[in-house]
Amino acid sequence: MILDDFSLKGKVAVVTGANTGLGQGMCVALAQAGAKVAGVARRSCAETSELIKKDGGEFFEVIADLSDTSNAPVILEKVVEKFGRADILVNNAGIILREDAINVTEEDWNKVININLNMVFLLSQTFAKQFVKQGDGGKIVNVASMTSYQGGIRIPAYTSSKSAVLGLTRALANEWASKGINVNAIAPGYMATNNTTQLRDDEKRSGEILERIPAGRWGTPKDMAGAVVFLCSKAAEYVNGFTIAVDGGWLAR
Ligand code: NAD
Repeated sequence: MILDDFSLKGKVAVVTGANTGLGQGMCVALAQAGAKVAGVARRSCAETSELIKKDGGEFFEVIADLSDTSNAPVILEKVVEKFGRADILVNNAGIILREDAINVTEEDWNKVININLNMVFLLSQTFAKQFVKQGDGGKIVNVASMTSYQGGIRIPAYTSSKSAVLGLTRALANEWASKGINVNAIAPGYMATNNTTQLRDDEKRSGEILERIPAGRWGTPKDMAGAVVFLCSKAAEYVNGFTIAVDGGWLAR
């Protein structure tokens, strides 16, 4: 039956940036769909763990700094040691640094590209190898952005990284679809998390943004739930290389 295809029972899902915001929301959704969830973060994921465990779900925390690319295999190792396998990778962690393009330093540029793009590729490659080894495919979901489609303002490295995430999603989907690995992405619109605190604190920008969102409100971590569960499930088996916007209609405007 169709709803059974959305179940993630027996699957092991790994979500980066699991301690807060959209990552936390997606951890909770994947656990509610039946997956065992490993959350990767620099800091404690106690709140995420509590939210999942109160619903009877299983959560495992992997503390790792994603700016250190040598951590990719370490993360996989820890997950496999705990759960014996991995089926789903959600590349959610990301940073944003706001500065006029004319003043962005090389160091800040590299910081953003490293976490938002380099680590997304390296983790995807590391997990794809594991999926191939296990022999029954896997799902990768990247977190893109409205800046995968638009230029943004004062965030040139972020825009470049998120535009590249859309391309990378297509490129990896092409190569790995034949291995039973689905690579897709979600492009969140303007969501109320730490990522947008500065924007929401700026009354003028905040008002302009809100006025342009057809749904008339900022998104929430819960708004990511349906898309992430779908893309990680059997129901999305023939969905490859696509980026789904969860944006309250922003792109349709
Ligand atoms: P957030 O700042 O609350 O979450 C970012 C997450 O990334 C945190 O869990 C943080 O711990 C993790 N992270 C950052 N650097 C890390 C590092 N070096 N090592 C380990 N973890 C690290 O913001 P969010 O909105 O929940 O962001 C999640 C994703 O969604 C990001 O990729 C962001 O770019 C993307 N996004 C957010 C919005 C929005 O409006 N909030 C819109 C589009 C895309």
